[in-house]
Amino acid sequence: MTFRALLVEKGEDGTVSASVQELADDRLPDGDVTVAVEYSTLNYKDGLCITGKGGLVRSFPHVPGIDFAGTVEASTDPRFRPGDQVVLTGWRVGETWWGGYATRARVKGDWLVPLPKALTTREAMAIGTAGLTAMLAVMALEKAGLSPPRGEVLVTGAAGGVGSVAVAILSRLGYRVAAVTGRPEAEAYLRALGADTIIDRAELAEASGKPLESERWAGAIDSVGGDMLMRVLKQVKYDGAAAAIGLAGSAAIPSFTVIPFILRGVSLLGIDSVMRPRDERLDAWSRIATDLPLDKLDDMVSEYGLAELPALASAVLEGKVRGRTVIDVR
Ligand code: NDP
Repeated sequence: MTFRALLVEKGEDGTVSASVQELADDRLPDGDVTVAVEYSTLNYKDGLCITGKGGLVRSFPHVPGIDFAGTVEASTDPRFRPGDQVVLTGWRVGETWWGGYATRARVKGDWLVPLPKALTTREAMAIGTAGLTAMLAVMALEKAGLSPPRGEVLVTGAAGGVGSVAVAILSRLGYRVAAVTGRPEAEAYLRALGADTIIDRAELAEASGKPLESERWAGAIDSVGGDMLMRVLKQVKYDGAAAAIGLAGSAAIPSFTVIPFILRGVSLLGIDSVMRPRDERLDAWSRIATDLPLDKLDDMVSEYGLAELPALASAVLEGKVRGRTVIDVR
């Protein structure tokens, strides 16, 4: 038996290239559950894995794809039977383990969750790691005391994958949402997802010399990192919190100061979606099924096939991909 996959190879001169190839089944990694993959997604991290950047992929040839959804073909894990529909996000699949850019994947049963009943495999991938991360960030902010009466919530990198889902969920939950974007042409899209205020990225891009700025946000979800995250922290209201989920701008914060933490009691919440325990994933998926309006999800999705991934990888790394990208691998 064979399967089709996007295979990333490294040449002797160190050049990394990706192409769709037919591979023998015995090349799949060992694992308890074999899945006929239907859909995968494109996240920022997939862009790094497809292009070999960031040192995430250590062993070549490699099949990327950090998320997938499909139907179980074979299983030695008693929790899964042939015919079950399943979803995988994270666990470093697609980085250190062959991932979802293939018509077949073999993984550990511990990494799979059942497809939520309210969702199709395509919808689950329209959500993917980006959507799960957005939901985990909202849940962390709620745990830190956020509620709609406390005020407006800021989302940075708003037209990206995590940002788009975060805007839609927060709006559905009754929050006023401010969306930071570097793409003025995304305004109508962001307003349709539920953003009330659009903020030009340039307003928050430069470090501020002030230790604090006027209090504006009850909470924030930040995909950008760097000095923009510091500007956000300086604007979070007393006792509010910001959830740091990404580094689309920068990992380092040259202008870092502890003043917002010690004078305003602001909290910085770290969000990781990759190694989240299974119970928490199940909670987050069940919240997504109720709190993410599926009609809004349709508006943010573009669909492509395996062969288009190399071009899409460069686009996502340049911040040019809007919303969520679904990959029909079949
Ligand atoms: P996307 O590329 O879809 O979105 C990122 C967005 O950030 C862009 O669309 C753009 O939004 C904005 N952006 C890009 N470059 C810059 C820049 N230089 N300065 C300011 N803003 C910028 O990526 P994802 O949504 O998939 O991921 C976002 C980040 O979160 C990535 O860093 C990713 O690695 C990380 N991540 C972390 C996870 C975790 O578990 N913690 C899980 C998933 C992702 P706009 O055009 O609106 O300005």
